[in-house]
Amino acid sequence: MADIIQLLPDHVANQIAAGEVVQRPASVVKELLENAIDAKADTITLVVKDAGKTLVQVIDNGIGMSNTDARLSFERHATSKIRVAEDLFHLNTKGFRGEALASIAAIAHVELITRREMDELGTQIKIEGSKVISQEVITAPFGTSIAVKNLFYNIPARRNFLKSDAVELRHVIDEFHRVALAHPDIAFTLYHNNGELFNLPASNLRQRVVNVFGGKTNEKLVPVNEETEIAGITGFVGKPSFARKSRGEQFFFVNDRFVKSSYLHHAITAAFEGLLPQKCHPTYFLYFNIDPEKIDINIHPTKTEIKFEDEHSLYAILRSAVKHSLGQFNVAPVLDFQHDSNMDTPYSYKNREAAVPKIQVDPTFNPFKEDGPVKKTFSGAGYKKESGSWENLYVGLESKVGKQELGVSTISFESEEVTGHLFTDKEKEEQQAITTYQLHSKYIVSTIKSGMVVIDQYRAHQRVLYEQLLANMTIKDTVSQQLLFPLQLNYTSAEVSLLKPLKDDLERAGFVFTAVEENNVEITGIPINVTESEVTAILDELLSDLQQEVPDTGFSQIDMLAKSMAKSIAVKGGMQLETMAQERLVNDLFACKEPSVSPFNKPTFITISVAELDKKFS
Ligand code: ADP
Ligand code: MG
Repeated sequence: MADIIQLLPDHVANQIAAGEVVQRPASVVKELLENAIDAKADTITLVVKDAGKTLVQVIDNGIGMSNTDARLSFERHATSKIRVAEDLFHLNTKGFRGEALASIAAIAHVELITRREMDELGTQIKIEGSKVISQEVITAPFGTSIAVKNLFYNIPARRNFLKSDAVELRHVIDEFHRVALAHPDIAFTLYHNNGELFNLPASNLRQRVVNVFGGKTNEKLVPVNEETEIAGITGFVGKPSFARKSRGEQFFFVNDRFVKSSYLHHAITAAFEGLLPQKCHPTYFLYFNIDPEKIDINIHPTKTEIKFEDEHSLYAILRSAVKHSLGQFNVAPVLDFQHDSNMDTPYSYKNREAAVPKIQVDPTFNPFKEDGPVKKTFSGAGYKKESGSWENLYVGLESKVGKQELGVSTISFESEEVTGHLFTDKEKEEQQAITTYQLHSKYIVSTIKSGMVVIDQYRAHQRVLYEQLLANMTIKDTVSQQLLFPLQLNYTSAEVSLLKPLKDDLERAGFVFTAVEENNVEITGIPINVTESEVTAILDELLSDLQQEVPDTGFSQIDMLAKSMAKSIAVKGGMQLETMAQERLVNDLFACKEPSVSPFNKPTFITISVAELDKKFS
């Protein structure tokens, strides 16, 4: 048989690569703006038509390109920014892959005009779908202009996938904000459909923030400044009194590059602990200066995620820097840098009474059975509200441990009797074709006999995990996954004193500790439903929960631990779930003892009957 492997033609390879680099007009905006900055421009103009679907153009007064370089810039892996692999470790440019222009040229009509200051004449190149249409010598101002027209003109599927102009423009503006906030010393202008949206003169950081977000922003900003060996931190956080319900102005920059980090975000949340009204989010614009050798920005193709060599120290530095600033500017009661936050009563907790945990459920309630009450009753003792507390929940099961091998299957069997299957076997067969559907990466919708059910995925998963964890901690021999390398975490003596009493319970949940001491918490095993990267977030959240309500010993401690962990591990809204995962979650939820509420007593699902739907359509 003849050989069958062939090299992909360049324009095909470029189109494939383009999928990674360019998802939407905003991706083009990002790449072009970054190139202009790398070219040392101090004045950059962005022109956008129809939210970028028709035109994205960036004009700069940077170093420009020679005739040959102009042509080469559209080749894949053509870059002036690295020469040897070594260079990757001390990058100080935005780009380095040499992919952007090649990718963009594969899926749009591109027109480049460029001239170096030293040259008399410039170059104009037109490219369509990777094909050079023309290359001419022309007169031009120095600098570079790249116009990208009709994005995805040759990939209709991608073009159709674009969202409304309003949504795409939002993405474009977000990208523009990120770049403009990272470079206050560069002047930026943004035009959309011939109207000027932003005109930002070169300025200092504070003015830039104010110019971007409006004059009222100024009074809301509290400066943050911290110089340490690991990193320098400058920027601003918003005063808590101005915090808003919508998550919005939250920006981290590392070496002038916008990055996302849920870990560092958590550090800020921790610093604001107790200062924000319920459900409000802190505002921040924070800039880290870190030795490029100590970070790896290369782990994500669109480069907003970042890896730090010394993440834990950075977390601690950031948290205390922000706390310190809030304190200094008299917006927090915490003035002392070394202050032990465990001694504070968080505001959100001050007016609350310590509530005795209550369950208000009808164990025989089953939303999916219409024919009369469920005949079988729960065999475990004390599932009813009157009979008291959570301790009783597992008592009945516990007493059986000796008699039979009590595994997960037995537990879910017990609960099935209470709640019933979501689908009967016959229905299950009918369901095969219908299955589940995820709505806005947040809700799972499915059909049931009487109509439809809408499940909140985050709350549902919390419920599932909570019951699993509770079961592990109270009755089962836990399995944990052995870590290849022990995790070493640093916690203060105050935090360690909170963690220590929980050690046994945490171990029953699946953690294996080899040390729990000040600045040395060592973990060699973690629960099976947890990944290594989640461990710090889980423990941090646990600590912050503990600081809010220190549980008495016994069951309430286990209960709060299970709740806290369930909260950290559960899939959040915004996470896309594959069909299999959706189905598993639905089934797991309805195998729970109390499927209808989250561990925090919030509804996990609603049902809408056909009758209700009929009524709406009448
Ligand atoms: P990268 O930025 O990763 O090097 P790009 O495909 O974005 O790759 O750009 C390729 C090369 O084209 C750059 O390395 C640079 O030399 C040149 N270039 C791109 N845009 C500009 C610009 N606005 N001004 C000057 N040179 C540019
Ligand atoms: Mg680039």
